[in-house]
Amino acid sequence: MKKLILLLLTIICFIKPVYTQKTEVSNATFETYKKAFVERFWKIYPNWATALGYHKYDSVLNVPNAAQTAKELTFASNELKRLKNFRINELSDANKIDFHLIETKLNDITWQIKELKEYEWNPATYNVGEAFAYILAENYAPLKTRMSNLLIKLRNVPAYYETAKQTIKNPSNEYLQLAIEQNEGNLSIFESDLVDSIKLLHLYPESEDAYLKRAKNAADAIRSYIQFLKDYKNDTPRSFRLGNELYNKKFEFYLESSYTPDEIFKAALDRKEYLHYEMGKIAVNLWLKYFGNQPMPTDRLVLIKKVIDTISVQHVRREDFQSAIEKQLPELTRFVKEKNLVYMDPSKPLRVRQEPGYYAGVAGASLSSPGPYEKTGTAYYNVGSLEHWSADKAESYLREYNKYVLQIMNIHEAIPGHYVQMMYNNKSPDIIKSIFQNNAMIEGWAVYAELMMLENGYGNNEPEMWLMYYKWNLRSVCNTILDISVHTKNMSKEDAMDLLVRQAFQQQTEAEGKWHRVQVSNVQLCCYFTGFKEITDLREAYKKQQGSAYKLKEFNEHFLSYGCAPVKYIRELLLKK
Ligand code: ZN
Ligand code: ZN
Repeated sequence: MKKLILLLLTIICFIKPVYTQKTEVSNATFETYKKAFVERFWKIYPNWATALGYHKYDSVLNVPNAAQTAKELTFASNELKRLKNFRINELSDANKIDFHLIETKLNDITWQIKELKEYEWNPATYNVGEAFAYILAENYAPLKTRMSNLLIKLRNVPAYYETAKQTIKNPSNEYLQLAIEQNEGNLSIFESDLVDSIKLLHLYPESEDAYLKRAKNAADAIRSYIQFLKDYKNDTPRSFRLGNELYNKKFEFYLESSYTPDEIFKAALDRKEYLHYEMGKIAVNLWLKYFGNQPMPTDRLVLIKKVIDTISVQHVRREDFQSAIEKQLPELTRFVKEKNLVYMDPSKPLRVRQEPGYYAGVAGASLSSPGPYEKTGTAYYNVGSLEHWSADKAESYLREYNKYVLQIMNIHEAIPGHYVQMMYNNKSPDIIKSIFQNNAMIEGWAVYAELMMLENGYGNNEPEMWLMYYKWNLRSVCNTILDISVHTKNMSKEDAMDLLVRQAFQQQTEAEGKWHRVQVSNVQLCCYFTGFKEITDLREAYKKQQGSAYKLKEFNEHFLSYGCAPVKYIRELLLKK
């Protein structure tokens, strides 16, 4: 026996150094590979680079023709071959995830070009506005530098839209309409913003006319594309519904979940039932407080809606919307600290600001955090202004984001939701996870954060708070049910509206907006609930494994330490330890 142990030890001692050495070599080679890969990737996708704050290719606008497509396919297959040189089990945990992310992205690129072919049926894929607007508006370099890039980039705009016209085949009418609206919305960038900047600069007075002509040619190209779309004889339009086969594949690439759409669909239906049940209990208990002796509706959903509508009148004044958010953030920080939920680096403050003009202009809130190339930048909580809204519209919005929901929204967007997650992400220096960030993980974390705060007593377990939380959570759940039903089960508009208005207690206008969104997007609406489900499942498994040693703070911090990686890979690594 002793001999055997000795022998084993010798083998282990003998094997280990070799293994470690091999691992080190593999990881070093892989790090070098990643750097080179990213550089090649940006060359192929310059607009993506610009959006993430990498400005070497700001002047490049690729014309989306057959040659470009061939280039992308070759790129993907070459990189897949390069990946084969690595043995995944010799890589570190962080690199294992990166390996998967790169591999999935490359397969996704190939699939999108060969199978999905969105460039044929979605005219809205052709849009140069965002890249130009970003470079014009963001002050990462002197205007002179940014403009000299834009002036080169402008040259390809006419060829870009000519290619678009030649490529489009039987588009779906909904995307056709979207493309017209979006490109019309972008005209002012070329017809006024760019023109103003050219005149303002007086860079090269002798070339100014030539530059103005270039801007005009670009604007003309966009106008001509819009006209082309308006005149398009669409006798056999494609359905906006993606269909089972494409949907399942896109779900796989986009969410990288351990669940299939069928499994997530079933889980969402179960969650909806659970939420209705819990909400019903609370509504019954609150009835007396708000309605006294009035007869209680017998239909559970009607009852819940009446109580929700009554509580929703408690909201901030429209002029206080932004300051109410500002005031709440320190309170959320205090709560997170007091309950020991997750460590927050106090040196990285979050600034609340009015939404910048070039944002979509939709009210509400969003978080913009510094990209992977600008780690020292500031994170902003963008709040849409209600200033110019009609009284009715503002009132309906404020009821939706009432006293309770506003707090949940702040948890989601900021603390400990998106903002805290981004803070952890920026700590890990990994560029691959920042570029190919997993949206199910990101949204899932924010949705999970809401529940985690309430579970730990945020809002003092007030029934009103829980009721509003459940309503908010129901929105994520119904996003998933809606998306899968519409794209794979032929759900009608009537049924969709019933789901959103009667079963999820949404305002008519909000539901109409969602119906529009599901016609011009797919899979994306699933990321909230899919991520939430995966994270809460993972926490359960982790709890079981840790037994009495389980600490919520440790789970949260471990989970966040992997960056924006798909939950299934985090799960593998977290449960292995
Ligand atoms: Zn009011
Ligand atoms: Zn979010």
